[in-house]
Amino acid sequence: MSPFPVILSSPSGGGKTTIAKQLLQRRSDVGYSVSCTTRLPRSGEVDGKDYYFLSIGEMLAARERGEFAESAEVHGKMYGTLRREVERVLGAGKHVLMDIDVQGAQQFVKAFPRSVLVFVLPPSVNVLMTRLKARKSETNEALRVRLHSALNELRAIGSYDYVVVNDNLERAVEVVSSIIDAEVHRRERVDGIDEQVQELVDELTREIDKRSEG
Ligand code: 5GP
Repeated sequence: MSPFPVILSSPSGGGKTTIAKQLLQRRSDVGYSVSCTTRLPRSGEVDGKDYYFLSIGEMLAARERGEFAESAEVHGKMYGTLRREVERVLGAGKHVLMDIDVQGAQQFVKAFPRSVLVFVLPPSVNVLMTRLKARKSETNEALRVRLHSALNELRAIGSYDYVVVNDNLERAVEVVSSIIDAEVHRRERVDGIDEQVQELVDELTREIDKRSEG
C-alpha cells in the first residue's frame, strides 16, 4: 500500500487543526505538510513547524517557480502547500495530513488524485462562534471575514469523501483515524491486488477442472 494525502477542511473554528495535532501525536504512520502563508504568526506559532511564514514577495516567487501543489487566498491572506513537503512525507512512507481550505483541496486533488478528503463540521453556529472568539488575535473585521468564508466553505462539502461532526474532540479524532485505516484497505490502494486475485482465480479454476475431469 502506498501512503496517501489526507485533507482536512472545515470552516475556521471547526476544529480541524486540533484534530490534526492529535492524530499526529497518536499515529506514527502520519506526517504533516507544513504550509506557507503570508499571514503573521499568532502567539506561540513557530516558523517551520506551524507554517512557513513568508512575505508576499517570497510567496509569489515560490508560486512563479511552480513550487506549490495548490495555493489560495483565504481570509485575505495567501496560503500554499509545497510539493516538496508532500513528497517529503510520502517519501518517508507516511500518509500526509493537510489542513487546507476548500479551494486548495479542489486544486490539490488534481495534482494528487489519490487523496482522501475529509470535511470537519462544527456541531452548531454557537460552537463555531465560541471557538472563533476564543482566538484573541481576531479583530471584529477578521471575525466577519472568517464567518463569510465559513459560509463558502460549507457550500463546498459536496466534493468531500467523508464528513465528521466535531462535537466531541476525542470521538472526532477516532473517526478520522478509522477513515485512514479504512482507506488503507481500499481496493485501488492495495499493491498487487490484480496479480493476487489472478493467482487465486487460476488456482480455483484448476480445482474446478480437476473435479469436472473426475
Ligand atoms: P489559519 O490562518 O487560521 O491557520 O488558517 C486559515 C485557513 O487557511 C484554514 O481554513 C486553513 O485550513 C487554511 N489553510 C492553511 N494552510 C493552507 C494551505 O496550505 N493551503 C490552503 N489552500 N489553505 C490553507
